[in-house]
Amino acid sequence: MRLIFLGPPGSGKGTQAAKLIEKVQVAHISTGDILRENVKMGTALGVKAKEFMDAGKLVPDDVIIEMMRQRLQKDDCSRGFILDGFPRTVAQAEALEKMLNELDMKLDAVILFKVSDEVVVERLSGRRGCRQCGAIYHIRFNPSLRGDSCQICGGELYQRDDDREEVIRKRLDVYHSQTAPLVGYYGERGLLLEVDAGRSSDEVLKTILDAPWGRSE
Ligand code: AMP
Repeated sequence: MRLIFLGPPGSGKGTQAAKLIEKVQVAHISTGDILRENVKMGTALGVKAKEFMDAGKLVPDDVIIEMMRQRLQKDDCSRGFILDGFPRTVAQAEALEKMLNELDMKLDAVILFKVSDEVVVERLSGRRGCRQCGAIYHIRFNPSLRGDSCQICGGELYQRDDDREEVIRKRLDVYHSQTAPLVGYYGERGLLLEVDAGRSSDEVLKTILDAPWGRSE
């Protein structure tokens, strides 16, 4: 199974990828997670990426493409992968096509997570994460039973810098102008499957698993 999850920030790509890898043994590759890990560790890549991420902008294509070139060569990709948050520009999609050809790998599908901008703003601006264990909450839809502390480990809950409303709006603008053209790109290649990401996450998961590549695993 080799899938791309395409959709605006907050459309549930990461949540679905996490659920899917509980059922099928493939690598979950989130470029956002890799970049945040690098920022946390203070690597050269992290230092370079942080200013773009905090401003809600895309990290330059050459940086991302090199990062993914290395990631796709790791052993865990041989059983398949879910690309979550990559590609995000046509240049990245073209580079990916080349890399996969070189690795003799073929994509099964590109899942498009469709959701309105207003739902995205509501979901992301209320999102909080635990600094200690990484658990994710929402101040309205899934609040911690311990207020500002994590109900699992007691860690401090925080809001990601890029989940502030003005940054979310910027990220949505970037999505519509730079990433949405990929809908046409993959549509032309007959790879696109649209899912209504406003539905419950179990329903979205079922749609993905009911597709031919879901049944074959
Ligand atoms: P995410 O968690 O996927 O929303 O990613 C968080 C941030 O990381 C984005 O707002 C971008 O600044 C950066 N980022 C993640 N993936 C990419 C990508 N494929 N191309 C450029 N920037 C990216």
